[in-house]
Formats: sequence, structure tokens, C-alpha cells
Amino acid sequence: MNNDQNSLNSCEILIIDDYPDNLRVLAAILSEQGYRVRKAINGKIALATIETQIPDLILLDIQLPDINGYELCRQIKAHPKTDSIPILMISVHDQPEDIVRAFSEGAVDYIKKPFQPEEVIVRVKTQLMIRHLHHQLKSQNQTLFEKNYQLKLEVEQRMQMEDALKEANSKLQKLAFIDSLTGLGNRRYFDDQLPRSWRQMARNKQFISLILCDLDYFKTYNDTYGHPAGDLCLKQVAHAINRAVKRPGDAVFRYGGEEFVIILPETPLDGAIQVTKNIQLEVEQLHLLHTNFSIYRQITLSFGISGQYPNPNTSPTGLVIQADQALYEAKSKGRNTYVVYSFPSHV
Ligand code: GH3
Ligand code: MG
Ligand code: MG
Repeated sequence: MNNDQNSLNSCEILIIDDYPDNLRVLAAILSEQGYRVRKAINGKIALATIETQIPDLILLDIQLPDINGYELCRQIKAHPKTDSIPILMISVHDQPEDIVRAFSEGAVDYIKKPFQPEEVIVRVKTQLMIRHLHHQLKSQNQTLFEKNYQLKLEVEQRMQMEDALKEANSKLQKLAFIDSLTGLGNRRYFDDQLPRSWRQMARNKQFISLILCDLDYFKTYNDTYGHPAGDLCLKQVAHAINRAVKRPGDAVFRYGGEEFVIILPETPLDGAIQVTKNIQLEVEQLHLLHTNFSIYRQITLSFGISGQYPNPNTSPTGLVIQADQALYEAKSKGRNTYVVYSFPSHV
């Protein structure tokens, strides 16, 4: 409050009155209170002095020689630079309509002549306090507005960061489950997906088939044509397998190295054999030359096929082992062929 009082006492007040006596007395009263006082004897001088420096408060006599006090008040209130200066009107007129007019032109208070010094002091003080509080409120509002804006920016930035993080996470997730060379699901994805398909088929009491396939003599392919050509070959074979596997529920994965695995839900063994033949055809149509070792003179695959009605209480590992055994048999048979795993018969 002390600071407030100090800043209020150092306020500058402009007195506009054409009577030198009035000016002198008012100036003396207000100076004594510590206010800085400026004086103007007519409207023209008043406007010029306001233009030079904006006062904190104006005491305005209604009767001026050059311009009516009401008109002067309206002019000051019409300008955005000066419209917040509190204007106290002073007049000998004390009719209600005079007072109403003063307020309607923008005055904040009305002092009747002859005035009492105490009354002038109290009214001036009140208006300066209101103005001061108004300024304080405005600056607090501004600070709040700026803080709010800053907060909004921060929230926006955080949201953007969160989005970027989510995107990076989903990219990472994809990278963790996708084989970068072929774009197929990787071994981890397969290990995740097979038990799910297995359980679903168990619930639906449906058959599930698995094809495990391996490029024949691929080591010599690499040795002959170079590793980059081997990579390209793997990519093309992967796409060819994808083309051959048509149902939405079917899923192709790179099992590792030059091996691929295909999950075929709701597919009996003869369906899996059909898919295998489709793959053979698609790969054959790639015409990927492999003149070394391979008697077929182009890239071929060997296939191991397994399938069964899943038991909900067992894991699908057996299905993979069986496909692997069948694949091994296909290799032993001379490659470029498929073998369907058959359960040993108990006599
Ligand atoms: P088999 O007919 O018995 O399957 O013989 P293979 O030569 O295909 O099998 P082997 O297991 O001896 O060799 C597999 C080769 O696959 C060895 C490796 O160089 C190659 N290979 C595995 N992954 C990649 C790969 O990402 N890119 C390339 N270019 N070659 C790969
Ligand atoms: Mg292999
Ligand atoms: Mg191989």
C-alpha cells in the first residue's frame, strides 16, 4: 500500500479553468498533497498540453472561453490515447441534467462550485486509486494472458512431441516386426502370430496348415552371383510368395536366412499343397538363373508342409517341427519339391 500511495502522490493532474483564482487555489490544494500539477486556461491549451504529456487525471471546468467543457471532455474521450484519463468536471451548474450530461460525455465525477478543498482531495484521491487499480488489473490480466499463451504453446509443443514420439514408436514397433530386406513379417512376428492363429483355429475348430520353404543351393547362388544379387533374389522370391498366397488370413514371414514360412488358417492340407504349387509357379516365372549346382538351372525352393486341428491345450511348436522335418525330407529327395508331414501310424 505504501508503494501504491507513493505512486499515487506523484501523479500528474491537469487543471483546466479560465479563472486564474480557481486555478491557483486548486493547484495549491493538490500540490500540497504531493501531486504534480499542470494548468490550462482554455481548451486549446489543454489539448496541446495533453498531447505533449498525458496526465493521470483532469479537473475540467465546464465553462471555458473557447470550447465547451462537455465538448472538450468528448474529444479527450474519443481518442484511444487519452480515453482512459479520468475527468472530473467542475461547475457552478448543479442541476441534475448538468450532472447527467457530464457523466454521459465521459466524466467520472462532478464537483460543484464553490468547492471544499477536502471534497476535491477526496474525490481526486478516489479517482486516482480507481485508475491505479484499473492499471494494476490490466497489467495482471496481461501477465495472465501471456502466461496462458505460453502455456498453450508449451501444451502444443508437448502434443507435437507426443505425436512424434508415437510415430517414432510405431516405426520402431514396425521395424521390430518387419524384415527390412523383404518387407515381410520377421521371425519375431511369426513367433507372435502363430500361437494367436493356433488358438483362434482351436476355438473355431478349424484346421491350420503351415508351409516352411527354403531356397535350394542358395549358398552357391551367393558364391556365384555375389551377396547383393543374393539379396535381390531373396526379395523377388519373397514377393513371388506373397503373390501366390491370396487369402486375407494367410500370412507370409521371413523365417530366417533363405527360409520363409506361411501360416494358412482354415486351410486343409490339400489347400496348402495348392498354395505350394502356386508359389512354385510364381518363383519359376521369375526366371532367376542358377546355373551352378542346381539341375533346374534356376532358383527353386523346397517345401515342408504340416497341418492339424489345433489342440487348445498345446503349443503350435509341433506344427513347426513337423514342417521342418518335412522340409528336410524334401531336401533329401533332391530339392525343388514338397513333402507333407504325415503322422506316424500306430498299428
Ligand atoms: P540347401 O539347398 O540345402 O538349402 O542349401 P543352401 O545353400 O541353400 O543352404 P545353406 O544353409 O548351406 O546356405 C544358406 C545360404 O543362404 C547361406 C547364406 O549365404 C545365404 N543367406 C542367408 N541369408 C541371406 C541374406 O540375407 N542375403 C543373402 N544374399 N544370402 C543369405
Ligand atoms: Mg536354410
Ligand atoms: Mg537353402
